[in-house]
Amino acid sequence: MLIVFIGPPGAGKGTQAARLIERLGIPHLSTGEILRAAVAVQSETGKLAAPYLEVGGLVPDPLVVGIVGERLSQRDCAAGCLLDGFPRTLGQAVALDEFLKQRGRQLDVALELRIGREDLLRRLLARKRPDDTVETISRRLEVYRLETEPILAYYDQRKILCTIDAVGTLDEVFDRILACVEPRRIV
Ligand code: AMP
Repeated sequence: MLIVFIGPPGAGKGTQAARLIERLGIPHLSTGEILRAAVAVQSETGKLAAPYLEVGGLVPDPLVVGIVGERLSQRDCAAGCLLDGFPRTLGQAVALDEFLKQRGRQLDVALELRIGREDLLRRLLARKRPDDTVETISRRLEVYRLETEPILAYYDQRKILCTIDAVGTLDEVFDRILACVEPRRIV
């Protein structure tokens, strides 16, 4: 099953993604994690990406599209994958569709985790990540609104969008996610 997981930073994507991959038995592809790891080891990709991560901006599309294409081509992604934090721009969404189409594949579900701004800020300021300062958080939320939200309409048009209320206990939110994913699961 190929799933994209969309939501503003702090919506709980990482936590829910971890549960979902366990349930579905598919790999987790988090572009944020891959990029942070690349920055930490100062690889070529890391050096290119670092300035964007520092300010909470988006790494250029070709760089992330390349990372995702490479990862999706690995054997463990043949049966499916959970894409977390990608796509984040309409350009990335279109590039992903093209990539999949050329390989006779397509997305099954776009999961959106939706949460109000106040809940978000509270959650974001409670976690401890190097790119979680008030400034970068505000920037990332703004980037989400401008760059990422337009993707929702794109997936809605294709009838694969599922919007999940991200406010509630971990179990409540996970149950909502399963209610969307399970009926679309090809067994
Ligand atoms: P995340 O862990 O998903 O919040 O991502 C952390 C940071 O990595 C973001 O603020 C961006 O700088 C960068 N990043 C992650 N995924 C993408 C993407 N799909 N496109 C561009 N930049 C990304």
